Amino acid sequence: MDSLSCPAHSSAELERLAWRIGAEVAAPAAGDVDQRARFPLEAVAAMRKERLLAALIPKADGGLGFTVQEMVGALRAIATHCPSSALVLAMHSVEVDTLVRHGTTPGLRALLEEVATSQLLIGNASSEVGLGGAAGRSRCALEQHDGGLFLDKQVLAISYGEYADAVVATCRRTPDSAETDQILVVCRRPAMRLTATSTWNTSGLRGTCSHGYHLQSPVEADLVFPAPFATIAGRGAAQVRQLLLSAVWVGIAEAAVATAHQHVLRRAPGPLVLDTTRLAELVGLLNKSRSLLQSACHWFERVEPDREAVESAGMMIALRNLKVGTSRLAAEAATGALAICGIEGYRRDSRSSLDRIIRDAHGGLVMVSNDRHLEESAAVLRAWKAI
Ligand SMILES: Cc1cc2nc3c(=O)[nH]c(=O)nc-3n(C[C@H](O)[C@H](O)[C@H](O)COP(=O)(O)OP(=O)(O)OC[C@H]3O[C@@H](n4cnc5c(N)ncnc54)[C@H](O)[C@@H]3O)c2cc1C
Repeated sequence: MDSLSCPAHSSAELERLAWRIGAEVAAPAAGDVDQRARFPLEAVAAMRKERLLAALIPKADGGLGFTVQEMVGALRAIATHCPSSALVLAMHSVEVDTLVRHGTTPGLRALLEEVATSQLLIGNASSEVGLGGAAGRSRCALEQHDGGLFLDKQVLAISYGEYADAVVATCRRTPDSAETDQILVVCRRPAMRLTATSTWNTSGLRGTCSHGYHLQSPVEADLVFPAPFATIAGRGAAQVRQLLLSAVWVGIAEAAVATAHQHVLRRAPGPLVLDTTRLAELVGLLNKSRSLLQSACHWFERVEPDREAVESAGMMIALRNLKVGTSRLAAEAATGALAICGIEGYRRDSRSSLDRIIRDAHGGLVMVSNDRHLEESAAVLRAWKAI
């Protein structure tokens, strides 16, 4: 990822491919996806065609073998055109990465191969009704049922649940386990039943179709991750999740600043006015957002072979700050762009409209609340002797 420039000018192969899908397929549909709160079918079809759903799967397992850092570049590029499309790919890729790192049973290995060959789409059910964004706790449990395993979970939101071929869910290990004694299981179609319990009529990120669901599914013993969820989260999953999702928030900031830039360029040439100075400030803000992402990616890639460093409290605090920082900067960039574009940015039907960008930008603030991230870091910092 060349985070110092617009993703359109990247020299990275995956980022260029993603930019093309974003510009040619996702962008033309983004308005309709947003207006109808519908799944970005055409963008996901284009991703499947280019095998992007297997981008993070090693070549030896039939995938494209790209790194997390390369995927971050691709997500930033797509998010510039349609954040909902990018989020679908980001959330799916988080699950794929977890399968690559921790899917050690024959069933989980076979699922990974199937994702590579058939471009399956994987969703996530880690949130639970009544627990908000507290992903480290579960009320539901994996239960014995008719000689097999069964999961019954009221999920707060499963993005693209209707379109997912499989859903990775957290739950308690057994009905007697503590709320924090969690495991990770895969629920698969056709046996998995999803009954929508809430609609997805949100301000932004409407194409993720993240309805609440009552999830009921038999679970094959071979599709239970052997490691506890806390271990999986600490050893890569939580870190990669922050990196991939933050790429989307940076992509939204890219879109806001690009819209303001185009607006300024369209104005008749003349003496510099305030909005051009504001644009200079806004580009500074975008650079900050790009730099946060780039430095976090570099850090993660550099220490990745060292398990202790990946799991360190310092790394987790830095990655939470990445999420908090980039989501706030996306919202700030959208507001800053509005100050430059004025009424044309406020209109929904102008070339400089910021309507969807402003609404999408605020999604990052609530997609796991920044307060929760800061609270988790605060608890660690209270025990630290020095920063
Ligand atoms: C676009 C989008 C897609 C999503 N997709 C999925 C998905 O695919 N799968 C899935 O499982 N979930 C998904 N979610 C849900 C997400 O994972 C979080 O669970 C959800 O956003 C949290 O909802 P909440 O704001 O009600 O809860 P909370 O996290 O409870 O936050 C509500 C407010 O309460 C306050 N608060 C509550 N408790 C604390 C605390 N302990 N510390 C600090 N502050 C606190 C905060 O100020 C916060 O703003 C998605 C959410 C969004 C927005």
